[in-house]
Amino acid sequence: MNLQNAEFLISAAGQRDFPRDRLPQIAFAGRSNVGKSSVINRLLCRKNFARVGAAPGKTTHINYFKIDGKAYFVDLPGYGYAKVPKAEKERWGRLIESYFAQPDLLTLGILIVDARHRPTANDCTMADWFKQSGRPFVVAANKLDKLKKSELEGNLALIREELELDDNVKLIPFSAENGTGREALLSEIERHIAGRSDAI
Ligand code: GDP
Repeated sequence: MNLQNAEFLISAAGQRDFPRDRLPQIAFAGRSNVGKSSVINRLLCRKNFARVGAAPGKTTHINYFKIDGKAYFVDLPGYGYAKVPKAEKERWGRLIESYFAQPDLLTLGILIVDARHRPTANDCTMADWFKQSGRPFVVAANKLDKLKKSELEGNLALIREELELDDNVKLIPFSAENGTGREALLSEIERHIAGRSDAI
């Protein structure tokens, strides 16, 4: 898969906008500012493709990127903005719900958390969405470059425990800043895309 060949497809506001052409969908989720856009950009070797530092108020769309005509990267709206009005939080909930209401859309979920911190209650809720989908998901612990080496093992254990991850759920230390973990995450993505294509 040629990751350089990526194009923005659609900003989906609801069910009717979701592509249903059976191409694999890799869905990225994370709280606002965790570095979700930066992770997507790092995977695609782009600087400003998925928009870094997206403002509150942009949380109610699901952005679809088509990768080399072979798969979609699905940028689920970030959560946990402090200043978002209740009505928008509810819209976020309805949009996520409508995406997960069609679990056959999802090939692989990628939950991005902050490697430095205990996962938030919202992170746990998002992990539950992925678990309940019945589809595979992985967790990327981003901003690894901001962590002391001695803290890594303990933090990963805490993340695994708080999110109540099964042993078969991969937890990948990642840095969108310096590229650590890129190969590991890409190989998970490619493995699941290959698995899906065989199944069609
Ligand atoms: P999003 O809101 O989840 O899409 O987060 P962004 O991609 O906009 O990133 C939020 C901020 O975190 C930006 O200032 C990024 O430069 C920074 N950032 C993202 N990933 C990393 C990382 O791995 N390491 C460091 N040090 N900063 C990061």
